[in-house]
Amino acid sequence: MPTRLQCRKSRFALTAVLLCSALAPVHAATKQIGKDLYAYVSENDASANSTFLVGETGILVVDTGLNATAGAKLLSAIRLVSNLPVKYVVNTHYHPDHQEGNSVVGAGAIVISTDYTRERTVALMKAPGMEGFHFRPADLTFQHRIRLYLDTYPVEIYFPGKAHTSGDALVYFPEQHAIAMGDLSLNNSCPAMDDGSAENWILALDQVLDLPIEKVVPGHFDVGTRSDLQRFRDYLNDLYGQVSALKKKGETVEQVRRDVHMEKYSDFRQYSKYEATFSDNAATIYGQLESR
Ligand SMILES: [Zn+2]
Repeated sequence: MPTRLQCRKSRFALTAVLLCSALAPVHAATKQIGKDLYAYVSENDASANSTFLVGETGILVVDTGLNATAGAKLLSAIRLVSNLPVKYVVNTHYHPDHQEGNSVVGAGAIVISTDYTRERTVALMKAPGMEGFHFRPADLTFQHRIRLYLDTYPVEIYFPGKAHTSGDALVYFPEQHAIAMGDLSLNNSCPAMDDGSAENWILALDQVLDLPIEKVVPGHFDVGTRSDLQRFRDYLNDLYGQVSALKKKGETVEQVRRDVHMEKYSDFRQYSKYEATFSDNAATIYGQLESR
């Protein structure tokens, strides 16, 4: 039977352990955004953000960064939270800044993407000039939707239709009221527009806003809220509406680039490079409307 002193000592030890675990170091780039769910905001804006969910037996990671170095930084941030194996890697789309860390982060993981993302990744691997890149395309692909269970946590991975590219995946964590958006959202920022559809992108954002989400992990820059996502949706919707109306009036793409008014979004980080961002987005939307 322990003495009173031993009891006091072990109680002290237990308190110390609890305190230590409460103060366990989490990487500065890591933010807990729900139960067992973390956002990793890349310090390098050229490398994508990641999201990771820690189950009882393994970890699911969404997007893995620009290269092996970015992947290694992400993995060491994950290791400050858990030593469990990375079981699944989900790539939101084919752009290298979201998937070049796959081999480092999830050496033994099942990599998941849309069919389109895998096709584009394999094509990139064969493209001239891509020799220095280290792609690891998906092992498991889907067309519309997958519901995956990481132990007890459900994870909804779905294609919302063309948006940033023609094959983006969104990753919804219903129990944590959070979503990883890939490049379908950026806070206070103009998006890059690849071979997607601004019209459907707006619908996709409306569908996300119908979900009971509180935290939004964008493809780059800081974690956002529902209202950040709403504002990004309003930017796209305003731009799309203006370009459509001006085109209907018979304006050329050059006239539309000049005539859209987006001063309402002057706080966006690219506003000082208006021509290369806001105007380019307008021209891309014009092209999408023309090719319909
Ligand atoms: Zn992208």
